[in-house]
Amino acid sequence: MRSGNSVRYGEGDNAVLRMALWQVWKLKCYWCREPVKFADCQIDHIIPKDVTDDELSNLKRHFGLPGSFDLHDPHNLAPSCASCNGPGGKGSTTYDAPVYLSQLDKAARRRSAVVARVQAFGRSGKVAEHLLQVVKADLSRADARQEFLDHAPAVVQILSMIGDGRADYRSFNRLEVEVDEFGSEQGIIVSLDERGRTTAALLEEVCAVELGSVLREPVVRLLRQVRTRVVEHFEYLHLDNPISAGSPVSDWFVIELESLDFHRDGQRIEFTAGGVFEGSLWVSLTRGDSRGDGLEDLQADVVVDGAFSASVSWDLTSALSGLETGDCVIDGWRVDDLGLVLAGWG
Ligand SMILES: [Zn+2]
Repeated sequence: MRSGNSVRYGEGDNAVLRMALWQVWKLKCYWCREPVKFADCQIDHIIPKDVTDDELSNLKRHFGLPGSFDLHDPHNLAPSCASCNGPGGKGSTTYDAPVYLSQLDKAARRRSAVVARVQAFGRSGKVAEHLLQVVKADLSRADARQEFLDHAPAVVQILSMIGDGRADYRSFNRLEVEVDEFGSEQGIIVSLDERGRTTAALLEEVCAVELGSVLREPVVRLLRQVRTRVVEHFEYLHLDNPISAGSPVSDWFVIELESLDFHRDGQRIEFTAGGVFEGSLWVSLTRGDSRGDGLEDLQADVVVDGAFSASVSWDLTSALSGLETGDCVIDGWRVDDLGLVLAGWG
C-alpha cells in the first residue's frame, strides 16, 4: 500500500528527502558508487524527469512499470554525485542497459526506508531541523567552520551517551586486489567503522600483513562462486532444452567491504569480513535449436548482487604462512537477466 504522495520530489528545497536518500543509499552516489559528501550530493531521477509523455510510456512498457509510476516518487530517486548527474554522466548510457532495471529495482526496495525517514523527520520538535542545518552548513566559510569546531563535539558527546558506537563514523578507502585468475585487479571500496579500522590496524601492525593481501583469497573465492552461480542460473532455467554456458565475463564488478572484526581463541585469531557486491556479467551459451537439428549460439547479460562474509584465521604460533582462508559465504543472492540474444543478432 502506497502512503499517498506525501513523500516525493517537489519544487524548492528537497533537503530532507535528499538527506534520507543519502543515508539509505549509504552515503554513496548510486551510479558510480563513490562516497559523496552531503553538500555535494544531488537527487537524481533514475528515469529523467524531463522525458516526454511518449518516451515515458515506452519506458514503462520496456521496464514493466505500473501505469501509475510517478517520476518524483522515491522509487525513481537516488543520490548522485555532480559528475554522474551532469552532462556526459550516466545520461550517456542507453536505457537498454540492464543496469537501469537494476537501479529501479533497488530504489523500489529502498523506498519504504526513505519514506519512513522523511516522515519521521522533526516528529519530536525542532532538533531534526537544527541538525539538518548543521549537516547542510557550508564549511568553506571560516566563521562557519569555527562554529562547527566549537559546537560539534558536544553533539558527538551526546551521541556517545545514547549508546556505545553511536558516535562512530565510517571512513572510505579504495583498495585494488590482484586476482590473477580473472586476469586483472579487483577494486574494493573499504567502508569501515571504528571496530573495522581497529581490526585493519591489528592486521597491519601485529600480523604485519596488508588488508589487500588478506582479502585476495576470499575475493577470488567470491568471484568464482559468482561465476558458478551465473552458469547454474542458466542451466536451471533451461532444464527442458539443456544449455551449456561458457565462463561468465564481467563488464564491471564492485565489491564493498563494510565490516571487519576479529576475535581471539587461544592461539588463533579469527578475522571476519563482510560486505556487499554488485556487477554486470555476460556469458555465451549454446543450446540445441528449436528444430532439434543443430546448435545455436546465444549471449546473455546479467546483473547480480548480494552480500558476502568471509573469514581468515591466523595461528599466533606460526609465521605468516599461518594465515588460513575459510569459506566465503554468499547471502541474499540476486540475479536478473534480460533474456537471451542470438549471438551476432545484437
Ligand atoms: Zn557518481
